[in-house]
Amino acid sequence: MGGDEAVWGIVLGVWASPVPELPEVETVRRDLVSLIAGKKISDVIIRDRRVLEGFGPRGGPRRAVRAGEFTRALVGRTVRDVLRRGKYLIFDVGEDLSFLAHLRMTGRLVVGPVAADARAHFAFEEMSQVLSFSDTRRFGELWLAKDWRRDPSIAALGPEPLDESFDASAWGRDLRRSGAKMQSALLDQKRMAGLGNIYVTEALFLSGIRPTRRARTLKSSQILPLIENIRRVLQEGLSHRGVSFRDYRDARGQRGQARDRLLVYGKAKSPCPRCNTLFRGLKVSGRGTVYCPKCQK
Ligand SMILES: [Zn+2]
Repeated sequence: MGGDEAVWGIVLGVWASPVPELPEVETVRRDLVSLIAGKKISDVIIRDRRVLEGFGPRGGPRRAVRAGEFTRALVGRTVRDVLRRGKYLIFDVGEDLSFLAHLRMTGRLVVGPVAADARAHFAFEEMSQVLSFSDTRRFGELWLAKDWRRDPSIAALGPEPLDESFDASAWGRDLRRSGAKMQSALLDQKRMAGLGNIYVTEALFLSGIRPTRRARTLKSSQILPLIENIRRVLQEGLSHRGVSFRDYRDARGQRGQARDRLLVYGKAKSPCPRCNTLFRGLKVSGRGTVYCPKCQK
């Protein structure tokens, strides 16, 4: 199939690959809690060991893992909870062990019959359905962590924008010291965890900030409205179970509903709803974005 992704690439005028962001991953997490929390893992089938090895910077495996070790570590364990940090899912299976998942671009974690294209699946006691991990592009990963908080991927993440403990003034001070363009600054997971191209593009539009603007040129009075808009677009995405593109599915295998709510992402050459100027698409550090040349300074 041509798929939504190709259509969006054409609409944008530049190639854009929408990937799961905070609202999509959080939607999957909430479903997983209701579907598998409290269930005991009876089997783990790894069909493609690259799911465990991951991809290093030069395309080689990121870690050496034997499928048998991964399976032995998890069988008999109970999923106590499913947590999220940024775009990572954390399956808590005991005080001393978790397994982590990152969907990357096209990964899916769906509870149901074994998916035909599953690269790995988890079976549970007294449950006919399994948790399948499928991934057409094969960049998604599963791995074990003794203490997930100290896992290097997790430890490197910036604060969660929806957390009550989020320190807006410290975040704003740090942002305004950065020479990065705003699109890139907000995509940096070390600065803030969970944002991707879609929600950054939407939040910058609502804030009247151009994606190419340098972070250090923001006024301090722009910080709080920016954070409010980031939270608003994330909450909006969450309340509609995420934006659907070709590959994203929630944990029940359903598409999200938030796509119709997007104001600017994927709408290059459409009129701005505020001023009627045509939106422009461009790339910032290789990532596609869209903005209104009149409303966003
Ligand atoms: Zn406008």
